[in-house]
Amino acid sequence: MTYHPASPTMKSAAVVNYAPEKGSVEVREIEKPTIGPDDVLLEVANVGVCGSDLHQWTADHSWPVNYPVVLGHEFGGHIVEVGKEVEHWKEGDRVVSETAAIISKDNPMTRRGLYNLDPTRKGFGYGVNGAMTKYVRVPSRILHHVPDQLPFEQACLTEPCCVAYNAVVKNARIEPGDRVIVLGPGTIGILCAAMARLCGAEVAIVGLPQDAHRLEIAKQYGCEVIIGDAKPWAQQRDGLGCDGVIDAAGASVTLKIALDIVRPAGWISKVGWGPQPLGFNIDPLVQKNITLQGSFSHNWPIWERVIALLSSGQFDVKPIIGGVWPVTEWHEAFEKMHKGEVVKSVLRPV
Ligand SMILES: [Zn+2]
Repeated sequence: MTYHPASPTMKSAAVVNYAPEKGSVEVREIEKPTIGPDDVLLEVANVGVCGSDLHQWTADHSWPVNYPVVLGHEFGGHIVEVGKEVEHWKEGDRVVSETAAIISKDNPMTRRGLYNLDPTRKGFGYGVNGAMTKYVRVPSRILHHVPDQLPFEQACLTEPCCVAYNAVVKNARIEPGDRVIVLGPGTIGILCAAMARLCGAEVAIVGLPQDAHRLEIAKQYGCEVIIGDAKPWAQQRDGLGCDGVIDAAGASVTLKIALDIVRPAGWISKVGWGPQPLGFNIDPLVQKNITLQGSFSHNWPIWERVIALLSSGQFDVKPIIGGVWPVTEWHEAFEKMHKGEVVKSVLRPV
């Protein structure tokens, strides 16, 4: 593997979200970041476009953004510089980075290893400059090695796979043969469906007529596809409903569907979110003794496990990758994902 560090004075093109107004994203030339003693400088090889990048672009996000900020939190590349306090990492290492760029090391959640749930956490792409550019400053505590056989175009998608792993493996309970329904065929929905297949479930993924293309891709993971009413599939085995529902839709109203199709004593893992208030009765949650579990982000052991799954080929992200664009063509990459023409767009720096 070769890498070519550029001159220290060179500026690089970056996809910058510069203001809260809709459409406030443009390519700007930025300075190479300087690093602190505990950081590395990572030369980005590839960076995935996330739904959250699209939400900041279309200004329908619900988290605080430090404008102007370089977008992108799904990335991998080579280390080109190492801070003086950093141990165990060296120039040339192939790595991916987690998203929790800033955390409080004394927060009780951090001390439990659940720094992803530290309320003071700030991530790449909204809290600090992200990776849709050539160089990004990364604290060494969130780096993971990437084996040579795993190309960066795939490795950069470790992050959404970790979101799926947490929602499907850690925050749900699947036994082989369970029937699981996934609501929402975005990146996270499809990856959750694939992860549930890996756990031995029979899986159906539910979408709308305009999701047909993305649902076709879910079929490559051995999932059944439902457009419209999921209840007949849920009830197929014994009439009581499916064992679990993974709600990966971006509108919380789908919780109503989940409560309806899950069997008594079943579970709902909710990973999709949207700020809309709900206007329905949640008594079925009580009456059916349903476990409703939120799932947010991921932490170090999940990353190690997902990299192992990607490297061994047990988990394959190739079907979701719709193309690789230079960062200067971010608009086309964003637009195609926004329209649902591709499940996942990947960028590379110029
Ligand atoms: Zn993401």
